[in-house]
Parts: sequence; structure tokens; C-alpha cells
Amino acid sequence: MSVIDEVIEANRIYAETHELRRLTPRPERKLAVLTCMDTRLSILTLGLKAADAHIIRNAGGIVTDDSLRSLLISHYLLGTEEFMVINHTDCGLMHTTEQDLRTRIQNHTGTAAIAPSFFYAFQNIEENVRHQLQKLRSHPWVPHRVNIRGFVYDVTSGLLREVQ
Ligand SMILES: [Zn+2]
Repeated sequence: MSVIDEVIEANRIYAETHELRRLTPRPERKLAVLTCMDTRLSILTLGLKAADAHIIRNAGGIVTDDSLRSLLISHYLLGTEEFMVINHTDCGLMHTTEQDLRTRIQNHTGTAAIAPSFFYAFQNIEENVRHQLQKLRSHPWVPHRVNIRGFVYDVTSGLLREVQ
């Protein structure tokens, strides 16, 4: 039995009560969080419930075409008014470089590929958060009334630190 099979079984049990059925697709606390897919960070670490916020995740917590697309949908269609960008210490993307990733995967597969064009590896976490904030704040479709703040989440202490 694979983990996916276990998940299918767990879902069947969940569906007997389906507790999230009563929720609307609009986050109750009008918050969207863009963060990394890292296991050490979740709605639990942010004191959030499923109904509260959109959680948009990718490797690193990077503003890409796609996460930007999700944030725009979150604001314009589903009413969120605050965007929180969270990167974290000990992120896999800090322990590598763009070229190293590309070479590693290319050696493993024996072939090159056009996509993804970037992995968004980074060295300085504060600088990386500021860069994501800058991409959002400078985007013509992200209104000034949206409150955008950036953070580093420390996976050792479990604490958020705001990036100015
Ligand atoms: Zn990460």
C-alpha cells in the first residue's frame, strides 16, 4: 500500500463528516500567505484555521508568474486584503545554486529541459524576502491598499521575524 492509497482511505473516512463543507471559498480573515512548501511551516505555526486564509506555497515562497496569479485571484475574486510573504531559515533553495540544481538534475536524467527556466535559488534570506515584496509592490495590478508584509520564519525557534 502506497502513501497515496493511505490518503485515499483517510479521505473516505474524512468525507463521512466533511467538516469543511460549511466554509465559503472566501477566507474569513481576508489574508493570503505566500510561503515555502517546507514541512516545518503550516497554518499551525501561524495560528490559522482552514477558513482563515489562502495559503499559496511553492519551493522557497517565491513570487513567480504562478504565485502572482494566485495572489491576484485571491484579492480580486475572493476578497483578501493582506498579503504575507514568508521565507524560512534552512530552506533547500539556500543550500544550492541555480547552476548546481540544473547540472544535478541534468546529470541524473541525462537530458536538458527548457522548463523550469528558474529554480529561484538564493543566498541571503532577508534580501530574498525584500525582492519578493518589491515584485509585489511594484506590480501594476497589486493595489496599494493591499497590506503587504514580509517575514523570515526561523525553523529552530518557530518564530517569525519581520523583514523591513
Ligand atoms: Zn524552503
